[in-house]
Amino acid sequence: KVLQKIHNTTAKQQRVGADPDLPTVAIITTGGTIAEKEDAKTGGAVPAVSGSKLVDAVDGLQDIANIEVVNFCNIDSSQMNPQIWAELSKKVDSLLAQSDIIGAVVTHGTDTMATGAYMLDVTLKTEKPVVFTGAMNDASSIDPDGPANILHAVQQVCAQPDSGWGVTVTLNRYISNAQTVRKTQTTNPQTFRSGPAGYLGYVFNGRVIAYNAAIQRQQLP
Ligand code: ASP
Repeated sequence: KVLQKIHNTTAKQQRVGADPDLPTVAIITTGGTIAEKEDAKTGGAVPAVSGSKLVDAVDGLQDIANIEVVNFCNIDSSQMNPQIWAELSKKVDSLLAQSDIIGAVVTHGTDTMATGAYMLDVTLKTEKPVVFTGAMNDASSIDPDGPANILHAVQQVCAQPDSGWGVTVTLNRYISNAQTVRKTQTTNPQTFRSGPAGYLGYVFNGRVIAYNAAIQRQQLP
């Protein structure tokens, strides 16, 4: 059903900002906790926030980049599957084929983010940076982590357009390699762990503090 909807509807797309002195970054939204609010009746988090609202909630974003926002879908990441990730990969490649877009941020539910990020890492043709991010606390909680995570992801793209890292998962400022990243538990914003080689880096004050140099990326022919 989700795949059919993606095929049958043109993704809503919108440019926010037109400052010729700033780089342009694409933000492709797919759903997950970052785009959810608590449902008053059930107490559970449900999809509620559109792509452009997500971007509007990020203070300071317009000072660092023009944003091309694409509402790809709005689903819990348990509904993701290889076909949807393949479509997402094509969408990201087509956006990054535009010479003015320097990189992309994909917002995604955290439950299957590691798998989705790896799937895009091996299928994307682009060499431009692609950063997956999301949130552990939903948009109606007292401490939503989504807006800061989006800001840090865009800062990472702007600071390192030639990182050679392929797809990363970046939450709570820590940058993980898509090949080895794992979600380790369900409540802590520092849930993603990078595996034995450690984190690739850390986003601080709009800069990337790199802990690891370029990695050997695996890509499908
Ligand atoms: N259930 C959510 C999802 O993976 C969890 C999250 O986004 O943190 O879509």
